Amino acid sequence: MVSRTKYTFLIFILFILGLFCLGKVNAITNELPLLGRVIFVDPGHGGRDPGTTYGKIMEKDIVLEISKVLRDELMKKGAIVYMTRETDEDLSSKWDVRKKRGDLYRRILMYKKYQAELYLSIHINYYSNSSESGAEVLYNPINSENKIFGKLLMDNFKTSLGSKRKLKQTDLYMYKNTTVPGVLIECGFLSNPNERYLMQKKDYQKKLSQIITDSVVTYFNN
Ligand SMILES: [Zn+2]
Repeated sequence: MVSRTKYTFLIFILFILGLFCLGKVNAITNELPLLGRVIFVDPGHGGRDPGTTYGKIMEKDIVLEISKVLRDELMKKGAIVYMTRETDEDLSSKWDVRKKRGDLYRRILMYKKYQAELYLSIHINYYSNSSESGAEVLYNPINSENKIFGKLLMDNFKTSLGSKRKLKQTDLYMYKNTTVPGVLIECGFLSNPNERYLMQKKDYQKKLSQIITDSVVTYFNN
């Protein structure tokens, strides 16, 4: 009789422990929805390649700042984040005959080497008409995932940033030569005075990064 009571008690304790562990696991997956996901943040240009410019303001510098904020936001959600560059450098070697091609090729190789599940290429737009504005997403149809994630992110830019732009396709070298899912993100227009101001502000960089991070979470949850 005594041993039976003990047995029941043990079952009860195990049951409580099980509930506790389940709760913990739930809490972790809720707080860290990107736990273990390998994501590459790719700040465009760098070093000898400034990207688009407005006076002394260079695309390569702003995209690096945005990328670092984005990296931190993704890591807060549990992701394993790598960056193609963390300083003002380009990835070409002095032996490359075609420097730009060498730079882009090495970025693609990095995705492969680290078995990236998603890449986010961060860039900034420029147009002769300064009234053009809005964050924009471009994808290559090399796999079906690119469009799925691209649409999700573009929709979030529309609702959260009021962007009037549309999801577009790109045929650029870097995007058609990797099967790793990912998109090209044009955060705004350097040619637009308002966006030029905003994109250099930490608050706006964080807002952009949070929209991108939320989109990544939704993407992996589905
Ligand atoms: Zn660019």
